[in-house]
Amino acid sequence: MEPVDRREFMKSMAGTAALAAADFPSAAASSPGPVFLTTWEWGRNANERAAEVFRSGGSLLDAVEKGINVVEDDPSVTTVGYGGLPNAEGVVELDAALMDGTRHRAGSVCNLHMIKNPISVARQVIERTRHTTLAGQGALQFAIKLGFQPQQLLTPESLKKWMEWKANPDRQTFWLKPGRNHDTIGMVALDGQGRMVAGCSTSGLAFKIPGRVADSSLVGCGVYADDNVGGASATGDGDLMTNYCTSISIVQFMARGASPQEACEEILRRMVKTDSRNRSAQAAVIALNPRGEVGAACMNPQFQLKYALWKNGANQMCEGKALYE
Ligand code: ASP
Repeated sequence: MEPVDRREFMKSMAGTAALAAADFPSAAASSPGPVFLTTWEWGRNANERAAEVFRSGGSLLDAVEKGINVVEDDPSVTTVGYGGLPNAEGVVELDAALMDGTRHRAGSVCNLHMIKNPISVARQVIERTRHTTLAGQGALQFAIKLGFQPQQLLTPESLKKWMEWKANPDRQTFWLKPGRNHDTIGMVALDGQGRMVAGCSTSGLAFKIPGRVADSSLVGCGVYADDNVGGASATGDGDLMTNYCTSISIVQFMARGASPQEACEEILRRMVKTDSRNRSAQAAVIALNPRGEVGAACMNPQFQLKYALWKNGANQMCEGKALYE
């Protein structure tokens, strides 16, 4: 293929098709080996576990699921799984999604109560059903049928925080402008042989209106993965993320020739282009392509993205680029 200006090339639909056909199939050959890219501080522990599962013969899906389980099980993380802050009625309501970029197959659960590992229930949606998403009571019954143990997910600390919130006459609710009470674990992974998986798990916005479903359990919004192009995950204001189908948008930008970093920045710029008030939004994204190239960006330093990158056997914490002040 002749060298071309990448920006010009991105404009051309013919170029898009040619890239997909010519560049990506060779990506596996130049792959750097397993890579685990995970949002926020707890991404480091999740990556360690994912790498361990993968090293001991687990599949990439096993690795992402078990890596995310570490954070779901940790009561000190108040935004994911056990100990996640509850909805406005004091009930912990969990969302998760997992996508296998090889089979182009996703599973997700939303509004799941009493089961601390929603990512594992999402995995079972993939493995045991022809469906993609199970919600609420149906998702709970499905999980129980498969042997997941229902339990109280409120910890004494999260109950105390909810009671304090409830007792505050000036409390912020989602009938109004939200404050910051969230942070999802999102992981995008590559097995070194061209296979990609993306998963995320969250308790969503603290004190959200019961029944609210946002990006994390919506395939293409919170996660997306395609072996031929790459994978992405989003964290932040999930209602905003849903309106931009954030993760699939990032993957589509990559399909048109953008690097993961360019693709991450592009989606955030689009949010601002359509509404300049989004400059102050809580929005952060990560992306990975089959060559192991990483992208990470956030809208502003008030919502500074930290992420963990496990690559070439080393696990390091990094910061995503903040686009606006
Ligand atoms: N996106 C998640 C939600 O809105 C929360 C987060 O990622 O911080 O439910």
